[in-house]
Amino acid sequence: MHKIYKPFNPLKWIHLLIIASALLLIAVLLLTPLVTTYEPNPPFTWRDKIIHLILFGWLARLIAGWLKRYTALNYKKIIIWAIVVATSYSWLLEKIQNFIPGRTDSWEDLLAGLLGASLVAAIWYTYKQFRGDKTQPKLLLHMCCGPCGSHLSGQLAKTYDVTLFFHNPNLDSLLEFERRSAEAIKVAKYWGLPAIISDYQHRGWKQKIKGLEQEPEGGARCAVCFAIRLMATAKFAKENSFDAFTTSLSVSPHKKYNYVLVAGQAAAKKYKITFIEQDFKKKDGYKLSIMQAKKLGLYRQDYCGCEFSTLPEKKVKTIKKIKK
Ligand code: SF4
Repeated sequence: MHKIYKPFNPLKWIHLLIIASALLLIAVLLLTPLVTTYEPNPPFTWRDKIIHLILFGWLARLIAGWLKRYTALNYKKIIIWAIVVATSYSWLLEKIQNFIPGRTDSWEDLLAGLLGASLVAAIWYTYKQFRGDKTQPKLLLHMCCGPCGSHLSGQLAKTYDVTLFFHNPNLDSLLEFERRSAEAIKVAKYWGLPAIISDYQHRGWKQKIKGLEQEPEGGARCAVCFAIRLMATAKFAKENSFDAFTTSLSVSPHKKYNYVLVAGQAAAKKYKITFIEQDFKKKDGYKLSIMQAKKLGLYRQDYCGCEFSTLPEKKVKTIKKIKK
């Protein structure tokens, strides 16, 4: 299970309010004599059917727009949901009419609603396919720690619809995991981005790097460590309809870019998703991330993360003391 942090987005609620108002308006128009009359067995009129067609088509369009903007659903699922919700609402209003004296439900009205919703959804889908998606591509940014992602996430958010992904089972203790993930959320809050914090699964990580414990930092163990983290990122990105993924691992000058690149490319190939190949330490990327981390008052760890990392002298002394 992943923990999800979502920034408050007032626009999302305003758009929901518009949909709620549309539902209310349709109910008022169809349940009161504003557009239809109270007559037992009213004659079939095209005017009435066209009104149903337009109203439920409009509702389907609003729903499709909201789903596209605020969910990770693909176009096919969006149009199915838009048609199902709009037609269900049309059915509900027809059933309510049975309780109004002088009114009964009408399958022709329901059919007109279904036709309107399907027609508009199909036109919307075709238009989107024809014009291409003008919205920002969805990017899942694997964040190794708050400081490395502090500047990068803001930079990427200029071009992409960024979600931060904190997946670092390499960290040597739950305490360290919680400290670093808390800093990732601080960064998410600062840039107004959603963040996903995955479970702490260090035991599984240790099994995967078995036999490489004595490798020096920057050696074969680190290549496997990057692969583990980027495979999980690519898998999550694919399963959740992201367009691409990348990682803040290349921000640090202590990590070999070639290992990051190989791990990212392998994960992209396995899950058939784009990997943004960029060495983010270039163009002062590292310096800018240090500045941003200072500005945000982030915790800046003094070792890479696992228990086999090169430890700072202070920590080595403490460990030796504990072992005595
Ligand atoms: S030193 Fe860092 S990159 Fe290398 S295995 Fe440990 S946590 Fe992973």
